[in-house]
Amino acid sequence: MLSHITIVLVGTTHPGNIGAVARAMKNMQMTNLRLVAPKIFPSADATSRASGADDILSRATVCDTLREAIADCQVVFGASARSRTISWPELTPRECVTEIFEKHAGEKIAIVFGREHSGLTNEELDMCRYLLHIPCNPAFSSLNLAAAVQVVCYELFVAAGSAQRKAIGDRGETPLATAEQMESFYDHLYQTLIDIDFTQADKSQSIMRRLRRIYNRIELDTKEVDILRGILRMSQGHKKSQKQSS
Ligand code: SAH
Repeated sequence: MLSHITIVLVGTTHPGNIGAVARAMKNMQMTNLRLVAPKIFPSADATSRASGADDILSRATVCDTLREAIADCQVVFGASARSRTISWPELTPRECVTEIFEKHAGEKIAIVFGREHSGLTNEELDMCRYLLHIPCNPAFSSLNLAAAVQVVCYELFVAAGSAQRKAIGDRGETPLATAEQMESFYDHLYQTLIDIDFTQADKSQSIMRRLRRIYNRIELDTKEVDILRGILRMSQGHKKSQKQSS
């Protein structure tokens, strides 16, 4: 789901940060890392801080310039700890992922992070279509590089999950229950509430309305409706045998 998104680190000074970024990415199922002129790489420090995400490090591409690193990408986001005097469209990570999954679905994406001490230059930001800023304490707005990557990759991971769930729904693997299935379920539920003496026929309208509200909120699929109807059938059966034996 996230294989079309590349994380680019520009001019990283501390190899440990590169390792920590690899770890943050792997936690969120991201694999594409490109490094622009890192000060020291590869390095034992990077491997140790990757804590098992060495596969991301060994696949990482090293480039001389940002231009080279983003050459094949269609949409580029530049992450910056501070707002700039020249204005780029500035988005939060959540707004960025909405752009990525809705407006730019199917396009190759790069998200670029800057140097530990000085961030990205204005010339580098010029190559980015959007500026990504993680909202935080305005008086202390610079996150550690790997922490910034973590926040962004987390948002991507969560959004990719819901995009995938939606795709499954669209493909009809577990389609949502139809209105007809829901109406039969409500009829069954109504009859069961009466059978088990939870309510009486003349008093059940408002409780049924409330129950409909609950089930409408959670959008049941066909399998879930089947499970619930199985429970209703069992409850009716138990009540019947209870009445017969008393
Ligand atoms: N001192 C630098 C910040 C460097 S932090 C500066 O003032 O620009 C290293 C990188 O982490 C930044 O270049 C940026 O890509 C990312 N980063 C850190 N904090 C961030 C934030 N609040 N929002 C977006 N990116 C951030």
